[in-house]
Amino acid sequence: MTDPLRMHIHDDATAALRERIFDYARDRMQLDPPPLDKGMPFAELRAIMPDTVTEAGIGGDRALDLFGEILAPASMSTDHPAMVSFIPVAPTEASILFDLVVSASCIFGGSWLEGAGAIYAENEVLTLLAAEAGLPNGAGGVFVQGGTNGNLSALVAARFDAEQRLSIAGKTRPTRWSFVTSEEAHSSLAHSARVMDVDVIKVPVGADGRMTGADVAKAVGDSWDSVFAVVATGGTTNLGIVDDIASVVSTAKQHGIWVHVDGAYGLAGMFAPSTKPYFDGLGGVDSFIVDPHKWLYAPYDSCALIYRNPSIGRSAHTQHASYLDVLTDTDEWNPSDFAVHLSRRARGLPLWFSLATHGVAAYREAIESNNMVARDIADVIRNSDHLELVCDPMLSVVVFRRIGWAQEDYAAWSDELWEAGKAACFPSKYKGEPVLRFAIVNPRTTTDILMELVESLKD
Ligand SMILES: *Cc1c(COP(=O)(O)O)cnc(C)c1O
Repeated sequence: MTDPLRMHIHDDATAALRERIFDYARDRMQLDPPPLDKGMPFAELRAIMPDTVTEAGIGGDRALDLFGEILAPASMSTDHPAMVSFIPVAPTEASILFDLVVSASCIFGGSWLEGAGAIYAENEVLTLLAAEAGLPNGAGGVFVQGGTNGNLSALVAARFDAEQRLSIAGKTRPTRWSFVTSEEAHSSLAHSARVMDVDVIKVPVGADGRMTGADVAKAVGDSWDSVFAVVATGGTTNLGIVDDIASVVSTAKQHGIWVHVDGAYGLAGMFAPSTKPYFDGLGGVDSFIVDPHKWLYAPYDSCALIYRNPSIGRSAHTQHASYLDVLTDTDEWNPSDFAVHLSRRARGLPLWFSLATHGVAAYREAIESNNMVARDIADVIRNSDHLELVCDPMLSVVVFRRIGWAQEDYAAWSDELWEAGKAACFPSKYKGEPVLRFAIVNPRTTTDILMELVESLKD
């Protein structure tokens, strides 16, 4: 038998490549700081990058060289301490190391039959998240690829639940379904609505940006019959604002409506003593998501999706096919059954290993220290004549203006820092006006680093 992919050949050449790959990974993990690096226009990359995917192949050594010399430097390192745009990702070393182990272990994370051990550990983490949120025993779910999938899957379950209840009551469905969310909600919710072919009732929010139950009631008016879910945001991506979850829950419950919390970025704030109170009422929701790849220091890509009553998620999402019966006709916990997916990586394991290594208390401390850096730099900004805070930070996002600057001034400042490989701090927008934004989710992002950026805004 031939072995064209050399899968069972363990000779010096395969061993040498394996060592080189481990060395590469080891060296990358030890860079402190890692290079910021930056993207490159397609044409420039095309000009310097030889063809690699060829009929004969180029060999692993050459491919690794090209990755290290050309491709990696053309991809930004989100764990650079001065990468403060978007929501960066700064994984713990323990979680990165374990991501390698997950890859090497070839585990199908979709069914208990195949992945029991891995799923057991993933579920321990989901149980921790559910308990921290205040959900009752029995709550659980699955790690999906990202917040977008998590939100969509939760909303599909919510609509399924609403339809089941109507059908049990012998009532007809509304001609159009809708869900309710703040006008500050993440774009993935509008996308979910398009995918599901439902409408969104957008709730205008007050000056503090927090959606309340009263805001929801006002926006919905007498259209509750069309509503299958209310989505509160647990930390908006742009400003880190947490909706008033408790009052949203109480309004929605008066109408028997499912409440989902999109906490992709911010829900991790429930672990820090100073920001925990913002999440009051979370124990009353029907589902929530939080992305370990945002503020729980895990590598791309993962989102924890949790249902108060997982059996609804299961009924909404289980795929039926004759070749799957052996997997689905059981009472075991099959992660595939809880979202829009089937095959899945046991992507909760890197976070599990890191939590097991460091303990939950270390996470509380790390998240709290990101909050502290946010408050410290907000104080500096508040006391600077050339700057103005857009709002007091609730979590670890700080948004501010440089007084007297227009869009092109912000762009020139940020381009210069980026070109120099010093920082990635791109202008954002708030109510149509350009602003600057620090998203602080990296333990290596210190107040000093941000002070330097703030200083450089003077001239
Ligand atoms: C990032 C984010 C999402 C989308 O999550 P992905 O993992 O990028 O798909 C959804 N909602 C909020 C509030 C976010 O910050």
